[in-house]
Amino acid sequence: MKIAKTLDIYSEVIFMNIETFYKITYGLYLVSSVKDGKYNAHVSNTVFQVSAEPPLFAICSNKNNLTTEYMEDSGVVGVSVIQEDVDLQFIGKFGFKSGRETNKFAETNFLIGKTGAPLITDKVIAYFDCQIESVADLGTHKLFIVKVLDAQTLKEGVPPLTYRYYREVIKGVSPKNAPTYHAPKVETKKTEDKLMKKWRCELCGYEYDPAHGDKEHGIAPGVDFDDLPDEWHCPVCGVDKSSFVPLG
Ligand code: FE
Repeated sequence: MKIAKTLDIYSEVIFMNIETFYKITYGLYLVSSVKDGKYNAHVSNTVFQVSAEPPLFAICSNKNNLTTEYMEDSGVVGVSVIQEDVDLQFIGKFGFKSGRETNKFAETNFLIGKTGAPLITDKVIAYFDCQIESVADLGTHKLFIVKVLDAQTLKEGVPPLTYRYYREVIKGVSPKNAPTYHAPKVETKKTEDKLMKKWRCELCGYEYDPAHGDKEHGIAPGVDFDDLPDEWHCPVCGVDKSSFVPLG
């Protein structure tokens, strides 16, 4: 079979360029569901429309994610389209914390859709209320085919967040459960004749790069990690400086 032959060739390609994977474009979404009256959601870059009539989406979700368990239990799912001018704390809350330890809906505005799925309305421009039609097992992930039963736009003229914008402008990273996760490369940058190391958050993988600083929190480019104020926290998951390790 042709597919098997292609896979044989693929398995021989040992030195793949991981950067090539970043050429694939994605949007970023909140995928939400319910189980026994409890709500949970996570950030997903793998939501895409696969048919028009009926309107079907494909959603890929890690088996370890609590939302995946909720989706399989209730058979319903909400998808909210994150707006571009979102902050890293919001991404951190839904993308880097587990619903097993924290109630992500405690301080979150949301609606309940016709399916019963929670639909997050904070920092999003639109939502979709969906019913799960089928599930495929992909090993580490599950691929859900879902039918859209309701769709509403909340904000016109506000661009949706793309994965490229998240990585290149907001300087965000992928959580370990994301299909796009790659272990970060260890490297250092030389700035003004001083070797300034990047530091990585052990909890969420965010990298503090002195060459970029942390503009959102008033840290200008060129500030070494050691010179960051003691009250500085990881802009993604909120842990303090002691949870960071130097790279390189
Ligand atoms: Fe962090």
